Amino acid sequence: MSAPALSADDSGLYCAAGDFHIDPWRPVKRAIITHAHGDHARPGSDAYLCAEPGRLPLVLRVGDRVQTLAYGQQLTINDARVSLHPAGHVLGSAQVRVEVGGDVWVVSGDYKRQADPTCDPFEIVSCRVFISESTFGLPVYRWEPSGFVMNELVDWWQNNADAGRPSIVLSYVMGKTQRIMASLASLVDCEGRLFAHGALQKMNEAYRASSVYLPTAPNPLEVGDGYDFSKAIILAPPSVAGTPWMGRFKRGVTARASGWMRVRGRRRRLALDRGFVLSDHADWPGLLCTIFETKAERVVLTHGNSTVLARYLSERGLPAEALTLDRWGEQEEQE
Ligand SMILES: [Zn+2]
Ligand SMILES: [Zn+2]
Repeated sequence: MSAPALSADDSGLYCAAGDFHIDPWRPVKRAIITHAHGDHARPGSDAYLCAEPGRLPLVLRVGDRVQTLAYGQQLTINDARVSLHPAGHVLGSAQVRVEVGGDVWVVSGDYKRQADPTCDPFEIVSCRVFISESTFGLPVYRWEPSGFVMNELVDWWQNNADAGRPSIVLSYVMGKTQRIMASLASLVDCEGRLFAHGALQKMNEAYRASSVYLPTAPNPLEVGDGYDFSKAIILAPPSVAGTPWMGRFKRGVTARASGWMRVRGRRRRLALDRGFVLSDHADWPGLLCTIFETKAERVVLTHGNSTVLARYLSERGLPAEALTLDRWGEQEEQE
């Protein structure tokens, strides 16, 4: 039996045949990055490789030592053949297919199966071993279709506007924010009513420069004193909750858009007016159908609730194990 194509070392997932890491949390010689979220893309490595549409967001994180590969294009790195395939998670997110001596492994990175106007849809890649994320790997996590949730959000905004109250939506800097912006623009005219906190502007620009259509959303601090936000919707990172920044929006109501909003306690603890269950990760049915569709003979689970899902799969005859990669456990990044 030859050595496994991928194994965990103290920097992350390592491919010995190719001498590279996937999403390492320590600086390494060569890093393949599934996507530019902070828990997957860490600065300091000598060289980075990502899918072509993900280049600009990754440069914001790690600087410009970034090479790219088009989705589906093959690259030989030492004794490994590597290709990247859409993961449907955020702009440029990729699954990494690694083939060593005819043995095929796929690392999913973060992924979702729902439609998202800001990135390419998830693609099934057959493999013998599938390393899947399992952030929302409990049966309680089931998402409504995105269109349904976005219509709820528009209704909430409209009701607030009728009452003369600004709507503030807390959403993660990369991915969720742009998904909401693009989806809103497809449903209503946002002109002059949509704003984005200053901390979101750079990533919005990176998306626009990558040919993703986003509606105009100026920084609310730059529209002049006395501006009337009573009919506006303002996107902001979750970190602004409870800070003086919120004071600018008199009688503002706050919502958060995240998979975690499925858990009622979280919404209450964060003192939110509304929680919209909108996630960039696969839900429980999404994880299951993906895992079975890859036709993998073995499944390795990372992130989140991996033990429950591993047991569920094993009981159905699919060998599965949980792999704890501690440094990936930053849940704030897992929307
Ligand atoms: Zn992510
Ligand atoms: Zn992640």
